[in-house]
Amino acid sequence: MNARTNDTLKSADLFARALKVSPGGVHSPVRAFKSVGGTPQFFSSAKGAYLTGVEGEKFIDFCQSFGPLILGHLDDEVLEVVEETVKMAWSFGACEPYSLELAEWITSRIKWVEKLRFVSSGTEAVMSAVRVARGFTGKNKILKFSGCYHGHVDSLLVKAGSGLAGLAASDSAGVSESVAAETLVTMLDDEKAFLEVLEKNKASLAAVIIEPLPANYGLLIQRKEFLQKISEACRKNSVLLIFDEVISGFRVAMGGMAETLGIQPDLVTYGKVIGGGFPVGCYGGRSDIMDFVAPSGPVYQAGTLSANPVGMRAGLATLKKLEREKVHVILEKRTHEFTQELEKLLREYIGPMKVIHQGSIFWMHSDLGFSIRKYEDINKDHGENFKKIFHAALKQNIYLAPSGYEVGFLGFAHSEAILQECLSKMKLALKTI
Ligand SMILES: *Cc1c(COP(=O)(O)O)cnc(C)c1O
Repeated sequence: MNARTNDTLKSADLFARALKVSPGGVHSPVRAFKSVGGTPQFFSSAKGAYLTGVEGEKFIDFCQSFGPLILGHLDDEVLEVVEETVKMAWSFGACEPYSLELAEWITSRIKWVEKLRFVSSGTEAVMSAVRVARGFTGKNKILKFSGCYHGHVDSLLVKAGSGLAGLAASDSAGVSESVAAETLVTMLDDEKAFLEVLEKNKASLAAVIIEPLPANYGLLIQRKEFLQKISEACRKNSVLLIFDEVISGFRVAMGGMAETLGIQPDLVTYGKVIGGGFPVGCYGGRSDIMDFVAPSGPVYQAGTLSANPVGMRAGLATLKKLEREKVHVILEKRTHEFTQELEKLLREYIGPMKVIHQGSIFWMHSDLGFSIRKYEDINKDHGENFKKIFHAALKQNIYLAPSGYEVGFLGFAHSEAILQECLSKMKLALKTI
């Protein structure tokens, strides 16, 4: 069957077929629209700030593939590099200069990344960083925070257990309780709880891992003092600090939240923006720790397609453009203005709501009268409220990530004119609720 045949089919028909060949019809759960209901919209192409549905309609896209596309879809400059590269080589499985160029570019700008290793996804980056932390410290336990997502690596697919403070329970079938028992879980925004768990477990604790900007269960902007406290306590107790900046790295600033906050982790993980839309992840940090990675050290980690040349060159082209065009500064301003206007509309037509943002990442939620900084504080009806907004927006051809717990992204392709157009459409959308 050729590609054009698909173009003539509707989303509902395609989804019915997809359900027969893939679990839930998808290759990553949130795409199935389970939390918002209805049939997923299928898309066949994209350009700039827009997605084109298989039915031919254009949508303003605020999902941006969940974050990688900070320049928008098919940025002309990156596209040129990608076209050039696919004609050069698809994969070497050997040494080449392209990963070197990207590695040198990153390490010359981000001083806490002295050495790094490229992998093919954020999950892989986190999994590897955790392994290195264990290998380096000779300790086994990892501490994470509820409300932070670190990909689908077994040891981090855990939730707070019901018993003693800090103990974790498996959060997915197939993750054994013995694996979950290697991980400790505590709450965000709570120094006291954190220090208690740390104190009790420091002898066996290899690392603390945190999203310095938790952006996978809403946007839970942390107090700087909380993160500073974590950093100090880790240093004092010979526990490594891993910043998972897969979503915030190169997105909120070139050096991610570590740069924004002025806090240096021992290890950091990147993904999403670093590959400019291609499957690239990366972990890096202090060279004495990274030298534990094979072949220079005893911690094994490898990848057939690691440092794929298309991803490496698309990533570098993206990062260079971000720097040259001062994209972070522009996006900060645009996102600030856009979210303020959006919040006004939501307040007028829906009720007390807030639209918060950090850089170009935004999240809308009910105004509870305080800043939501931990997962446990999100109101239980949040998902239901978002559903209505999501579908009203979709009818006006605005595509938001299909879950109230996902954040929204602005890209460089969201011009002021497009954002204005979006606000007029949102007004029409919200009037229908
Ligand atoms: C997206 C994300 C991951 C997982 O990355 P994948 O490329 O989806 O495996 C891990 N950590 C954080 C903070 C993320 O946002």
